[in-house]
Amino acid sequence: MDRRSPSHAFPLETTSGSSESEVPEIRRNLLGWYSRSRRKLPWREEPSLYGTIVSEFMLQQTQVKTMLPYYERWMRQFPDPESLAESAEAEVMKLWQGLGYYSRARNLQAAIRKLLSLPAPPRTAEEWESFPGVGPYMAAAIASISFGDPTAVVDGNVIRVISRLSGMKAPFSSNSQAVRFIRPFASRLLDPSAPGDFNQAIMELGALVCTPRQAACPKCPLQPNCLAFETAEVEIIPSIQRAPTVDTKVFRLWLYDRTSDTLVLELQQGKSRLSGLHELPAIPIEPSDAPRFESLMVRTRTIGNNRIKEHIVQPVDAFNFRTNENHETLHRIPVADLESVAISGPHRKWIRELLKIQTSGFRASGEGSC
Ligand code: SF4
Repeated sequence: MDRRSPSHAFPLETTSGSSESEVPEIRRNLLGWYSRSRRKLPWREEPSLYGTIVSEFMLQQTQVKTMLPYYERWMRQFPDPESLAESAEAEVMKLWQGLGYYSRARNLQAAIRKLLSLPAPPRTAEEWESFPGVGPYMAAAIASISFGDPTAVVDGNVIRVISRLSGMKAPFSSNSQAVRFIRPFASRLLDPSAPGDFNQAIMELGALVCTPRQAACPKCPLQPNCLAFETAEVEIIPSIQRAPTVDTKVFRLWLYDRTSDTLVLELQQGKSRLSGLHELPAIPIEPSDAPRFESLMVRTRTIGNNRIKEHIVQPVDAFNFRTNENHETLHRIPVADLESVAISGPHRKWIRELLKIQTSGFRASGEGSC
């Protein structure tokens, strides 16, 4: 790891001396900027433990502008922990539909049920880590924001800000290695007198100012302390090696019955990320079976580093095609009811496209991505 700590930069080591003396200035400048410039977000305007938990679950892997309408709908339907705890899973999944990473919805409900089973909410990050779906980052966020627990959050934004402040150029081998490496520096920088605000401030700076590309350094409150700015290396820091993309091919069965206006969907079960949602049924097709199917369209979706090419096919002779529709996971659903069924976001989009095409007589166009 390339470590440099000139007198004016945020110190990488816990040394005493002039570098260490920069820490109070960094805290002050960052908190001052946060109080002036933070976005007015509903969970900040009307803070509550429940709102913090819901927002943190939704913000995992999702940007604020994408999750905001979901958050608002969620709070209208489940305004308090009790209403969420008492709801059926299908209702919860339906509301989460389109936000992706559906295990978050199940874990959120399980976490709230666990919270309600306790005599009092836990106050430390360590205790919150025992909740379903709550890792070190989320535990630190909930405990610091709601209870003032002095535990630093470390996410992609924090990694970027601290790496740049300190001029760390050597590549991280993975995100998790970056988290491990940055955590002690984040802990040292955290303001123990305002840990919740400080954690939110450093993440907000990473989201609004110290962005991955074209960071707004002239507007940054930490510019006087930033080594990457001084050495003009902002664009190359941090360097994190990404896992290579894995390509997967999946066949999906289209069994639309025009006479009854129904479509067969498969309920995802078990420990699958999509458990509780419907999708077009996956079907293994050997090359020798290919002539029995007509390709309707090909769409690509990317989950993490997994790029999945989904080929939607229908049997050439649908009348003679046999599926075990009595199988408990296969459901023939009236098209008129599809809007009230929990379906994964990409599949809902593709189903709408195909229904439009099939009922208007046009043919699906080539490939697309989602
Ligand atoms: S000066 Fe630029 S690189 Fe440094 S912390 Fe601020 S925005 Fe990030």
